[in-house]
Amino acid sequence: MIVRSDVVALIRDGLSDRAIARELGVSRRTAGTIRRTVGAPSVREVYALTPDQMWDRYAQPTYTGGHMDWTGPTNHSGVPIVKSCHVSYSARGMAFRRRYGRDPVGYVRATCDRKGCVAEEHVADAPMRAELNAQYNAIFGGAR
Ligand SMILES: [Zn+2]
Repeated sequence: MIVRSDVVALIRDGLSDRAIARELGVSRRTAGTIRRTVGAPSVREVYALTPDQMWDRYAQPTYTGGHMDWTGPTNHSGVPIVKSCHVSYSARGMAFRRRYGRDPVGYVRATCDRKGCVAEEHVADAPMRAELNAQYNAIFGGAR
């Protein structure tokens, strides 16, 4: 059994076996076999998950640094997303809401330097990032 990385990538993107078959010209059976081989749930199972269950399944703590890697779906620009009932939204936005109990203002970004990190402790919305920058400048001075 050859596990094609392009099939795996589309499974991780949340495509159904049928959509993968259409996209890559493989059979649905092949797509389904690869899905089981890599231990990925079927799309129907994924959509049945609540956002919190999806978080528990896809957010994986790293061994060091307190980061969280996202092993679930991403959008076309690689941003981690949570899909529920065919609605998708940012996984970092969800991390933010879990941690702060409110909706973020503007984009939520990771404040650490790990690409794709979704750790609840490492996300900040636009006003928080501005605040962090102001504190940094107050401590270390401006560009001079
Ligand atoms: Zn991090």
